[in-house]
Amino acid sequence: MTPAEIAIFGSINIDLVGEVERFPLPGETVTAKSLGRFPGGKGANQAVAAARLGGRVAMFGMVGDDPFAEELLSSLKMSGVEVGQVRRLQGILSGIALILVDSHGENMITISAGANGMIDRAYIEQILPAISGAKILLLQMEVPPEAINKLLEELPHENPLVILDPAPIGNVPRLTNLERVDIITPNLTELALLTGIDLRGEGHLKWALSQLVTKGHLRRVICKAGAQGSYLMNEKGQLIHFPAFEVEVVDTTAAGDAFNGGLAVALARGIELERAIVYANAAGALAVTRKGAQPAMPTAAEVEQLLERSDHEARWHIE
Ligand code: ADP
Repeated sequence: MTPAEIAIFGSINIDLVGEVERFPLPGETVTAKSLGRFPGGKGANQAVAAARLGGRVAMFGMVGDDPFAEELLSSLKMSGVEVGQVRRLQGILSGIALILVDSHGENMITISAGANGMIDRAYIEQILPAISGAKILLLQMEVPPEAINKLLEELPHENPLVILDPAPIGNVPRLTNLERVDIITPNLTELALLTGIDLRGEGHLKWALSQLVTKGHLRRVICKAGAQGSYLMNEKGQLIHFPAFEVEVVDTTAAGDAFNGGLAVALARGIELERAIVYANAAGALAVTRKGAQPAMPTAAEVEQLLERSDHEARWHIE
């Protein structure tokens, strides 16, 4: 089998989504209007995104031995993701996200890490050879930071190119080897939290991005900015804006996961960074036109179509 060009190391969760009229108060019980079960987890979502876009993708992470585990693995496989190195732990539950959505569309989420939280240094040793052979490694923060630290320490210096999605942001201060990260992709909220800078002020976005580049020793920072598209601070300290594609917004869940998957696929194909970000913007935009996370991920053909319909040359400009 040809080795995967994109390695995704991260969380694999089942999302249990209850629709309620209003959230219960402490001690109160409310009845859900519906309960849905969906494959999720940032790692798995990004793996599905990259595979749908035509990338050769391998997933690395852990699930439990509950019935959800089978469902999670088959959903990854159905999208074309290799799961041969995902470990199944005996006597442990898979990661579960308990999500309540009220009639205003607000949500409350509790995540039980389950098997994701058991990822340890021994597992990293085992998967290191396969990950070292990939072109791109995509990471998020829903697995223990110690495991990510070990992986970043042990990776070869040049390959793979490492992309870090710093979400959830709370775990980022526990990372010790950010120098090995080539590209970090916070959204606006995460960028503000990472730098302590209120982004509403004039010129503050550029300031925040340059702080991350200089103080964080990060070479390239891409800020995902929702309906504004995205921003890149490159090695020359230039701020480049990539306006969003205009689409009809249905559900913004997992837009960031589609963006990261798109970025990984474009870079794995050898596309230069600016064009890869346009591709990622298109993937993110298409994801917001559909409901849910994994089912909302676009195909390569859909992204190509959106790119063809748009004016390529106006897709980025230096601020
Ligand atoms: P996250 O999901 O991590 O919070 P964003 O909301 O910034 O990330 O979305 C990720 C990317 O998806 C954006 O950078 C943009 O390219 C695209 N996107 C998100 N919202 C919209 C939108 N309303 N219209 C067009 N593109 C969008």
